[in-house]
Amino acid sequence: MGLYRTNGIVLRSIKLSETDKLVTIMTEHFGKVKCVAKGARKIKSRFVGSLEPMSYVYLIYFGKENQQLYSLNHADIIQSFHQVREDFQKIYTGIYLNELVDAMLAEAHEEKQIFQLLLDSLNALQNQSNLETLCRMFEIRLLSLTGHKPELNHCIVCKTDTVNGWVGFSYNRRGIVCGGCMKKTSVEIKFSTGTLNYLRKLLTLNINCSGRLKFPRGMAEEVEKVTHRLILAHVGRELKSYPFIKSMAAIGQRDAGPSVGI
Ligand SMILES: [Zn+2]
Repeated sequence: MGLYRTNGIVLRSIKLSETDKLVTIMTEHFGKVKCVAKGARKIKSRFVGSLEPMSYVYLIYFGKENQQLYSLNHADIIQSFHQVREDFQKIYTGIYLNELVDAMLAEAHEEKQIFQLLLDSLNALQNQSNLETLCRMFEIRLLSLTGHKPELNHCIVCKTDTVNGWVGFSYNRRGIVCGGCMKKTSVEIKFSTGTLNYLRKLLTLNINCSGRLKFPRGMAEEVEKVTHRLILAHVGRELKSYPFIKSMAAIGQRDAGPSVGI
């Protein structure tokens, strides 16, 4: 029987029984784990407030190594991201990031870089309003950290790093195809080198600065067609929170658009 102490981010918290919760947590040192929080649904629970999705907590849990379920002993809030919880668009974006980590990772593998990516992204979500860039950045970096990084520097056929004008992208082979090779290789989508440069920036820019990278109209959709579709290919289904993000963004755009007098 081991006792584990680590920081973690609550990904999901569901009802297990009248009194208990089942909590999925991305820990800093032990990867993704599932814990039973006994009594967490009682009004006077010792876990009150600390097991909400997105909460960054200090945890103590115990159980046999590599078992499916651990017992949660203690959870102290380090950061609750309350500014994210006050804004619907931010809540759904945060839930989407959590859902992605939950869907893309197996349990019990140490994934310190992914833990840090999620923590940095939740902080960025709290401090800025350019949520679209943050989602795209999170998607492409999560793909990279789980071994599915798209090839954006060289044509996947002839290996040239000189691409001009239009570039193709193959989902199957997960990379760009240059103009010359597009004549003999089928690609699912085509985009400009401008979009390619945005995709490359998503891999290198500091997450805290993601708010400054705004996609020009038209390019946002092209970037999404690469990063989000690659995510779908790996997860095998659409994430539950994603339609909410899209409809919220559409409402935001409509409200920001020109008003028409009657
Ligand atoms: Zn080529």
